[in-house]
Amino acid sequence: MRSDTLTPDMTKACSSLNSLLAPLCALILLTLTHAQNQQPKPSADPFGAAPHASQAQQENFPPQLLDELAAIKTAALGDDYAYRQVAHLTENIGPRPSGSPQAKAAADYVAAELRKLGLEVQLEEVKVPHWVRGAETAELVEFSGQAAGTSQKVVLTALGGSTATPAEGIIADVVVVNNFDELKALGRDKVAGKIVLFNELFDKQKSAAGMAFMAYGEAVRYRGAGAKAAADLGAAASLVRSVGDSDFRLPHTGWSAPAGIPAGAVTAEDAELIAHLSREGRVRMHLTLTPQKLPDAVGYNVIGDLKGSEHPEQVVVVSGHLDSWDLGTGAIDDGAGVVVAMQAAEVLQKLHLRPRRTLRVIAWMDEETGGSGSQTYSKDHASEFPNHVAAIESDAGAAHPLGFDLKMTPEAADLLQPVAGVLQSLGATVLQSSAYPPGADIAAMSESGVPALGIMQDGRTYFHYHHTAADTLDKIVPGELRENAAAMAVMGYALACMKNPLPR
Ligand SMILES: [Zn+2]
Repeated sequence: MRSDTLTPDMTKACSSLNSLLAPLCALILLTLTHAQNQQPKPSADPFGAAPHASQAQQENFPPQLLDELAAIKTAALGDDYAYRQVAHLTENIGPRPSGSPQAKAAADYVAAELRKLGLEVQLEEVKVPHWVRGAETAELVEFSGQAAGTSQKVVLTALGGSTATPAEGIIADVVVVNNFDELKALGRDKVAGKIVLFNELFDKQKSAAGMAFMAYGEAVRYRGAGAKAAADLGAAASLVRSVGDSDFRLPHTGWSAPAGIPAGAVTAEDAELIAHLSREGRVRMHLTLTPQKLPDAVGYNVIGDLKGSEHPEQVVVVSGHLDSWDLGTGAIDDGAGVVVAMQAAEVLQKLHLRPRRTLRVIAWMDEETGGSGSQTYSKDHASEFPNHVAAIESDAGAAHPLGFDLKMTPEAADLLQPVAGVLQSLGATVLQSSAYPPGADIAAMSESGVPALGIMQDGRTYFHYHHTAADTLDKIVPGELRENAAAMAVMGYALACMKNPLPR
């Protein structure tokens, strides 16, 4: 799914485009679909019918397994292991961009913690890009109504992979466009030598209504592909309006396809300022971005196995990504995903529950800047994919879980209804089929046929902080993180212990 125009983040966004549709509608649909699949025929009134497990569901989830799943849920909800782990990753280790000493320290730390849990751990070497942020400043040096001797500061940040301006910066006219069509209509004559600003709005109404990932998917294409489109018309630099819905004049970084020109993101407030002034006349900007692209570095996927008692060769992956952007400390994106996967193993060990199949915890490297971690895993483990029973990734924050996005056959999804039953007291009952792999790191597995699941979190505040300096530990609500750990542990153990592997 990756290309110059479809970034890892877009894959994630696409996968969750519909992930936060009104849960009630989804439940009604599930109820109806489920009711239609049942034998014998259900009551004509699905809202009045008592829940009834199909024969296949009962076979796969005998009473003892359901009891174990309930015990796992209770234990996970009373356990602060995940929170303590994410506190260490964010507060003690800090930001973990690919190629950084912190990314290496985090891989060593997670490996050691998984060994402490008794897992068989390997560090899988991954070649990662190494880009480091430099100076990043901008000011408007010419605009309508300007008082003599003044400039207007613009708050911005460089996008990952951006090239540098000279140390003293560049001064150029700014041209504002709302979309790619407007850029194309301007043509090379009006774009060459200028700083292009893509002023695509992030749809706050969608995100407030629980459709944040759709809003993200609509806006993020300009961050991913804008610089390349501007460079193709000879632009001197490219800026996007930050892809996020915060009102705190915070710039949001993120991945931008290599374009050979400096690429940055201004805050939503500064995009409004520049658009306002450019409607009144000429706007010139002094822009300084001095990031550096260093030689590729070595990073690590951390892989920890809790070996299966009956089918050790069959694997259920529970995962999140360990790398983060450099502005914050990578708490909600995606320290949270890594630690809820770790807690899934921790809870099973604490309860002395050995899964029938292997539960594999993976902390992925380099989700944010190209996905080399998942690419390496797909290459090294492709021959094992027929025995990868399922893969789960949590990469949509740490807020209350609503259920799971599923990329699998309808028959497989239907078999998981008893798990939703166990999670009902959490509210994590939505099992929503997705047209796209629900997680960038498990996309390759999903495309090769492995049933894939993503935890569906409440995303209403996720894009306030996503890829900003404010993605920090305080944004994680401990109780909500425990709910996510419970959802991951229950689903992971269910997949590892149900009678038959999920059908493909
Ligand atoms: Zn992420």
